[in-house]
Amino acid sequence: MSEIIVAKFGGSSMADANAMLRSAKVGLDNKANLIVVSATYGTTNQLIELSELAQKGNWTKCESLLDQINEKHYKIAKDLGACEEINSSINNLLNEVKTISKGISLLKECSPKAFDRLQSFGERLSSTLFVKAVQNCTKQTVKFLDAREIISTDDNFSKATPIVSNIESNCKLKLKDCLEGKALYVTQGFIGQSPDGSTTTLGRGGSDYSAALFAEGMSASTLQIWTDVAGIATTDPRIVKEAKPIDVITFQEAAELATFGAKILHPTTLTPALRKNIKVFVGSSYEAQAKGTWIKKECEDRPLIRAMALRNKQCLLTLSTPKMLHAHGFLLEIFKVFNDHKVSIDSITTSEISVAVTLDDATLLNKSLISDLEELANVKIEQDLSMVSLIGNNINHTPNLAAKIFKALGNINVRMICLGASKHNFCFLVDENEGKNAISYLHKEFIS
Ligand code: ADP
Ligand code: ASP
Ligand code: MG
Repeated sequence: MSEIIVAKFGGSSMADANAMLRSAKVGLDNKANLIVVSATYGTTNQLIELSELAQKGNWTKCESLLDQINEKHYKIAKDLGACEEINSSINNLLNEVKTISKGISLLKECSPKAFDRLQSFGERLSSTLFVKAVQNCTKQTVKFLDAREIISTDDNFSKATPIVSNIESNCKLKLKDCLEGKALYVTQGFIGQSPDGSTTTLGRGGSDYSAALFAEGMSASTLQIWTDVAGIATTDPRIVKEAKPIDVITFQEAAELATFGAKILHPTTLTPALRKNIKVFVGSSYEAQAKGTWIKKECEDRPLIRAMALRNKQCLLTLSTPKMLHAHGFLLEIFKVFNDHKVSIDSITTSEISVAVTLDDATLLNKSLISDLEELANVKIEQDLSMVSLIGNNINHTPNLAAKIFKALGNINVRMICLGASKHNFCFLVDENEGKNAISYLHKEFIS
């Protein structure tokens, strides 16, 4: 059996028929055995907006949004010269989107299960069309695969956890001709299936994660992530124009970058790749000849600061109580509350009677989490913060680094610092309106 290659194309690589044809050629030129695709550009956002409008019972606005979604997909089908079978699949999928939205608008309620089902149509539509795009570019056998047959998950809707052992056996059982190189498969990112057969999703940006899970299940040699930029850069090029491309980066550094906000990779993408030591490549579907970035286990060049990331919409929860004074077991009680609510904490600092943790702002919507914490301690909430992270090597053992960082930040107030846990990361919180400035100053100091 020859080496298996899994390629993933994001929303901007699926924007219209031309983008799809370009991506199809990139996938074929790069010898993909399985291609995982995201929804067409902007469609997941539109489906989320649709559910919000429907819950408000605003059917007129829903209809106009449905028209936009329909038009976009019918146009791609027409431009690709889709056959009767594909046109009828697209039609059925779009009709189902309408029926579910109507149901939500009548009930003025969208259950987590209905929400995931609604979101799944983005990838189900794009993959149906992408099969045709690939068929237009090759004589090879191209098959549509429903990712839900492979990606088993729990039923934690909107952020489902994959069941890796099931995925592995599903791949062996259902992807034989793909593994033997007899057919090229096209499938959806982002979606999975819970044990009772409900459709689940892996969280926003989760198609990268899906592709990595397929790569792991198929014991692929390489995972290719094709997006709209030519690889991972020293920071988000939308924030700093001078951001430089990175040729090679380690799994650890790339994982820190993804976790701390670099949208280019979904934070959990690298976990499956690391488990099977699968090489990961990130490149641009618009500029496939460009160098791109390889993510590898080892890397010769290990700079002190390789890259930096910005994560907006952060909040700081400070929990204080005199009960913590010279006591033990308090942190355990607090973490138990977070665990019961399935909330993961990003960073933490402690003092004698208080603990401060950072979370995504959205976590605050969970009112019962806050009231459960208030039973244990006084809870102070600060919002509209950004986490700034510097990622590199030997960060926690380098003299004078903190002084350099704070000097570069000038008058920007730093609200909380985390240093020491990892040699790859130094991160701190600033006011959200200072986040981009902080990244620009630090990039100038350490990289440009
Ligand atoms: P896709 O739709 O292909 O999944 P995303 O929009 O999710 O693409 O991710 C690509 C975007 O990630 C880029 O357009 C870029 O703005 C952003 N990004 C954030 N940090 C970085 C970084 N360090 N290097 C490159 N791109 C980054
Ligand atoms: N379509 C999904 C999203 O927009 C998943 C992805 O694109 O990775 O979040
Ligand atoms: Mg993405």
